[in-house]
Amino acid sequence: MANDLVRASKTKAKSLSLSCRKMTNLPEDFARLTWIVILKLNNNYLSDLPSELHCLQQLTELNLGNNAFEEVPSVLAHLCCLKKLYLYGNKIRHLSSQVLEGLPNLVLLNLNHNQIKVIPSEIKLLANLESLSVTHNHLEHIPVEFGSIKSLTEINFTNNKLTGIPQQLYSLSRLRKLYLARNNLTELPEGVLGWKNLKILDVAGNHLSVFPVGFQLLTLDELFFEGNCLVPFMAMESIQEKEILSLKELSARLILREGTHIFSVLSRALPFYPELQDLLSHWGQCAVCSQPFLTTWLECVQFINLRKHMDMKSSEVIPVRVLLCSHDCFNRNDHRYYGLVRM
Ligand SMILES: [Zn+2]
Repeated sequence: MANDLVRASKTKAKSLSLSCRKMTNLPEDFARLTWIVILKLNNNYLSDLPSELHCLQQLTELNLGNNAFEEVPSVLAHLCCLKKLYLYGNKIRHLSSQVLEGLPNLVLLNLNHNQIKVIPSEIKLLANLESLSVTHNHLEHIPVEFGSIKSLTEINFTNNKLTGIPQQLYSLSRLRKLYLARNNLTELPEGVLGWKNLKILDVAGNHLSVFPVGFQLLTLDELFFEGNCLVPFMAMESIQEKEILSLKELSARLILREGTHIFSVLSRALPFYPELQDLLSHWGQCAVCSQPFLTTWLECVQFINLRKHMDMKSSEVIPVRVLLCSHDCFNRNDHRYYGLVRM
């Protein structure tokens, strides 16, 4: 390795690879290589980095994969030019928020094959992050702050322990690839149309029973969903009794209908009642009659053929959630929505 350092000093090479050298630590001499842009230290036995490394202020790419780090080395907080950071195949249990604060220019972060349970909310400080990969870890949930990293185009959370994803993930309108395979997801939240540019979605090997409302309007190229427990199609005759709506629901529906007329008394009065406005913001729209409703709905599914309805290569069929306002609408025979029977 000493030879490599001497050579790098002489040639002033921008890139230095010391992969697979059985190194257990880095010599302090490293601090002299201030012109280095790319440094590969993967496949060694490193468990810490010397603080002198902060002198490498030109460094934009650092590969520390397949080493023995138990935490993200603190010196990284001072390498603010870093754009690509690889930390896969270590024993990292938690991400230090101080280090995240020091990496505002990071574009790619790879933490695959570690033991991370929690991603701290400070992840939002990585405001330029485009690609994040945290496969084969122990993640149990995703912080809502992810929704503010608007630059993200690719996220990979394959093989974790996620039971859900936050609705805020739908505000990532640049997201093109999302991998959530082999987690414990039981459903995807409503609001899926926020993913305007999503092309690949992998939710294989979860516990999903149905896809969220409007899912068929996504412009996906590929969808992986095998190994879930999607509701099967089983024709059954069923006429539902007429329901009795609560006073709250009846008034909410009236306000929602009237509130859409911009000159109505109600729509002018609403801004003075922010709590009511907030409550009404969770309204839904009946897929049959297009009328608004607040909380009482009838959950149905429609069966979407991926080729016919979504222009994808596969001709498989998926169940997509549909909400109806009343049994009256359900009992009409001019739609192809099916009631959900939970068994
Ligand atoms: Zn209706």
